[in-house]
Amino acid sequence: QLFDTIAGMGHEQVVVCHDKASGYRGIIAIHDTTLGPALGGTRFWSYATDAEAIVDALRLSRGMTYKNAVAGLNLGGGKSVIIGDNRTPNREMIFRAHGRFVDSLGGRYVTAEDVGTSTGDMDFVHMETDYVAGLAGASGDPSPVTAHGVFRAIQASAFRRWGSDSLEGKTIAIQGCGNVGYHLAKELHRAGAKLIVADIDAERVKRVVNETGARSVATDEIVGQQADIYAPCALGGGINDRTIPQLRVEIVAGAANNQLLEDRHGDELEAKGILYAPDYVANAGGVINVYSELAGWSRERSLRKADEIYHTVLNVFDIAKQDGIPTYQAADRLAERRIAAVRSMVKTW
Ligand code: NAD
Repeated sequence: QLFDTIAGMGHEQVVVCHDKASGYRGIIAIHDTTLGPALGGTRFWSYATDAEAIVDALRLSRGMTYKNAVAGLNLGGGKSVIIGDNRTPNREMIFRAHGRFVDSLGGRYVTAEDVGTSTGDMDFVHMETDYVAGLAGASGDPSPVTAHGVFRAIQASAFRRWGSDSLEGKTIAIQGCGNVGYHLAKELHRAGAKLIVADIDAERVKRVVNETGARSVATDEIVGQQADIYAPCALGGGINDRTIPQLRVEIVAGAANNQLLEDRHGDELEAKGILYAPDYVANAGGVINVYSELAGWSRERSLRKADEIYHTVLNVFDIAKQDGIPTYQAADRLAERRIAAVRSMVKTW
């Protein structure tokens, strides 16, 4: 049954790892390495059952294949999970054990931080392997690159919707004034947009309001604002049965991962006539930044790569139109086409 699951989702390899000394229990899932080594972070979480942990690793690693493919990077998709309480002080033992298993794969899998792990943890991983990115002081804060990519996704969506990518005078509601929300707000402000913002953290709201002149509203009011564009930049699952009826915008484009609570919510946006820039296409700047660390790119080069998200989003919209499918499905199709094209390349020497 395990093999059926793995084969059904298209995985190449799933490694179950254990270290007696530290009590480390990890799963490394490599989904697809057609485009390059499988890149994806390490999640540290108290899963209720082993099966839940495996399913999470399988699901997240497949997601990384799609994300890395549409980002136009030479990277496959992978992800690992460590089972346990992520507040444990016993970090060196656990993350060095994890690093040894990552190293044993000889570069087929490259890890980075994710939920429950920090750059400090990745430094422990790095003591055992070079196949790790996101080290303290390496490629730096990814959020300006992510925000720039989201900005380009918003411009592309505006172009598709209104025939011009100018954001001058457009009203944009941003949910979340964290790392990405802050940088996005500044870029949108420079482009002449009017901003409405909300965050549960009053200090973060204040910083954006002071620097961009945004209007702030309560967190439960942001989704229902009358605006041109809604940019979710907080947590995932924000587009759901409760929020879709409240939306009064023409475009949804933001940074948050997994914005659609379920796939069907993408269909519902479509039915409501709202253009959705798929989350993992719009926020690909994050993974571009990780790649920049591996490839030795400058910040300028990463920003140039994130610029391309504009064309990728337009490509996704074209596929959606041609194939008569919602945009979230078109993003998957774009990724699958790139992987299939690379796989079919015939070496002629
Ligand atoms: P962050 O933690 O710095 O910011 C998130 C902000 O959302 C916080 O300020 C938090 O207080 C706020 N928030 C939480 N719940 C809220 C609510 N109900 N209403 C309003 N605000 C709320 O995180 P970030 O790095 O800015 O990332 C934002 C999103 O983008 C996340 O979903 C993240 O997974 C995704 N993302 C980030 C990057 C990156 O480079 N940082 C890359 C890809 C994707």
